[in-house]
Amino acid sequence: MGLDDVLHALRADPARAAVFSDLDGTLSLIVDDPDTVVPVDGAPQCLTALAETIGTVAIVSGRPVAFLERFFAPPIELSGLYGLEHRTGDRLLVDSTAIEWLPVMSTVANDARVVFGTEAVEDKQYSITVHYRGADEPFVADVLAWADTVAAETGLDARSAKMSVELHPPTSRSKGDAVEDLLTGATSAVYFGDDTGDLPAFTRLAELHAAGSLDAYAVVLVRSHETDAELHEHATDVVDTPEEVLQILQSMLDAASSS
Ligand SMILES: [Mg+2]
Repeated sequence: MGLDDVLHALRADPARAAVFSDLDGTLSLIVDDPDTVVPVDGAPQCLTALAETIGTVAIVSGRPVAFLERFFAPPIELSGLYGLEHRTGDRLLVDSTAIEWLPVMSTVANDARVVFGTEAVEDKQYSITVHYRGADEPFVADVLAWADTVAAETGLDARSAKMSVELHPPTSRSKGDAVEDLLTGATSAVYFGDDTGDLPAFTRLAELHAAGSLDAYAVVLVRSHETDAELHEHATDVVDTPEEVLQILQSMLDAASSS
């Protein structure tokens, strides 16, 4: 399985094709200040055109929907915070567990800002990320120890990501669940991702194919020196840059438009 199979399926039945992509490190370069992340030139336009042509196009991100909305409008679907938020059309749906944990998350975010400084803390309302890219070793050790302590004391989940640690409400919901929910009858699907949080989506597409729910699928890994080896094991295709992701999306749009 891989991109060739998905392109073939896309030509044959664009209405039952789904395209999913992460944002950071996949459609955008990784930058030191996460608030300045932007998708590569042309990516939102290409995805919009694709969303108007095929069954489903969705951004599946650890970012909140409020951030993703800066770049992506309907009919692109948005799944934020690893599946805790879902924007479809003008409706935003939030997982009930995430809402229950809002007060705890707010307290923890304030604590993180006091301990590590506002620049290191990305407050996503329903979850937080503490970044340590470029920081010295003692700072990294402090962040990891702090996250473990907070997780033990509050019941929040601590999850590691690229040069950062995240605290989430204790729910098993993942990008894999988000992708499965968004498939809604699709028979082919592709997922583009670069980080550990994408792994549940990588494996879910393979499982759905093995179970007969998907005729064709591809998992495209955008690799870097920070890439977890486990991601390589589950990728069907590998690229090196967000620009290459955009080229693949363009070829999908061409394939869907020519059918
Ligand atoms: Mg990413």
